[in-house]
Amino acid sequence: SKYTKEDIIRLVREDDVEFIRMQFTDIFGQLKNVAITASQIEKAVNNEIMIDGSSIEGFVRINESDQYLRPDLDTFTILPWRPQHGKVARLICDVYNPDGTPFAGDPRGVLKKVLKRAADMGYSFNVGPECEFFLFQTDEDGNPTTTTSDEAGYFDLGPLDHGESTRREICLALEQMGFEIEASHHEVAAGQHEIDFRYADALTAADNIMTFKLAVKTLAQKNGLHATFMPKPVFGINGSGMHTNMSLFKDGKNVFADPSDKRGLSKEAYSFIAGVLAHVRGMAAITNPLVNSYKRLVPGYEAPCYLAWSASNRSALIRIPASRGMGTRVELRCPDPSCNPYLNMAVCLAAGLDGIEKGMTPPDEITENIFAMDAATREAKGIRSLPGTLKEAVDCLKEDEVICTALGEHVLSQYVEGKEKEWDAYRTHVSKWETDRYLVMY
Ligand code: GLN
Ligand code: MG
Ligand code: MG
Ligand code: MG
Repeated sequence: SKYTKEDIIRLVREDDVEFIRMQFTDIFGQLKNVAITASQIEKAVNNEIMIDGSSIEGFVRINESDQYLRPDLDTFTILPWRPQHGKVARLICDVYNPDGTPFAGDPRGVLKKVLKRAADMGYSFNVGPECEFFLFQTDEDGNPTTTTSDEAGYFDLGPLDHGESTRREICLALEQMGFEIEASHHEVAAGQHEIDFRYADALTAADNIMTFKLAVKTLAQKNGLHATFMPKPVFGINGSGMHTNMSLFKDGKNVFADPSDKRGLSKEAYSFIAGVLAHVRGMAAITNPLVNSYKRLVPGYEAPCYLAWSASNRSALIRIPASRGMGTRVELRCPDPSCNPYLNMAVCLAAGLDGIEKGMTPPDEITENIFAMDAATREAKGIRSLPGTLKEAVDCLKEDEVICTALGEHVLSQYVEGKEKEWDAYRTHVSKWETDRYLVMY
C-alpha cells in the first residue's frame, strides 16, 4: 500500500491539515462523514474513532450502535475546494463492530467480500464507470430547479454553456485528487454532462464514484448551479446512466480477451455476460434503486429496457466496446448514478462469477435495433425485459439467491425494507398527472 500510519501523521502535520473527514457510505449510497481535528489523527490511524451508527439508514439497531471506523490509508487526499490554509483531508473508512469483526451493513465490506471470492478464483475485477449528471439553475432562494439555460447537445461546445466552465473546474479538482480524467463532454440532453475517469480495481472505482459525486455537487454549488444524479429528472429527454465497464484480470492479463475468437472474447467473457443476463432482473433494485430509476429505463432515450447483449448495438443492455487486448470489457448499460456504487459492483461481480462458475453460455447476440421490434418478435427471440418498476425489481431481488447471498442477510433485509417503504409512499401518493387526467373527466 501507498501510505503507512506514520506517513499519514506526517502528511497531516507537514501539509497544514486542520480537519480530517472520516468518510463511509450508508446502504442507500449516501456519503457520511465525521470530521476530526488534526490532534486526533493518531487515534484515527489506530482505528480508534468511534461512531454511533443507530441513526444511519440501514445500519444498526439502537442496542448495538457503537461502531469503529478503520481508515483505508491509501484513500488519504486533500479536498481541493476547501481552504488551502488549514486544509481539509479525507480518509475513506471501513466500518467495524466493537468486537473487531467487519460490520455486515457496511457496503464497502460487502464489495470486499465478493472481491475476495473473485480473488480466490484468481481474478481481480476492474471497473470503469461513465457517470452522467445534470447541471440545473437555482432559483432566487438558492433552491434547485430543473431548468437550464444551456441548449447544447451531445459533444457540443458552446461559448454560452455555463456547464463547460463548471465541468472544467470539476476535472481539475479531481486531477488534484489523483484522478486520471479520460474524457469529459456534454451529453445528449440540455444541461447534461458526462465525465469519465480511468478504470481501476472495483474498490477504488467505487471510492472514486463517491468522491466524484461529492466533487460535482460541491463545485456546481460554488458556481451557483445544482448538480443532480437523479436518473430521470425531466420527462421527455434522456435520463442519466452510469454505464459500468467491467473486466477480469488474472496475472496482469485481461482474461476477457481471446484473439482466436471471432469477436476476440474469451470463454470467461461469454460466461460473465451470461451470468449478468441471468441475474440482472434480480440486480435491478441495486443497479436502479429509485422509483424514478424506472422512468429512465423506457424506450426512446438510449437507456436499456430489454435483456440482450451485442458487440456493437447500443440498444442492448450489454455492449462490448470495440477495444480489445487489455481494454477488452463488458459494458452494462442499466446502472444509474443514484445507485450505491459498492453494492452495484458487488452484485455485478457476483452475477458474472456465477456465470463463470456454472459455465453459462449467453443467448445469441442481438444485432438489430431491439426498440424497433414488436413484442411478438421479442418474445419469439426470447428477449425478456428489465423490471418495469421498483416494486417488480424488489420482488425479483428477493427471488435471486445469488444476489441475496452477495448482499448478505443484514444489507438485504434493511435494503428491501427501505425500498418497500419507498414504493409504498409512491404508490399511495396522488400525483399531478392523475388529477390532470381524471379530475375533470370523471
Ligand atoms: N443517457 C443515456 C442513458 O440513460 C446514455 C447516453 C449515452 O451515453 N450515449 O443511459
Ligand atoms: Mg460514455
Ligand atoms: Mg454517456
Ligand atoms: Mg457507455
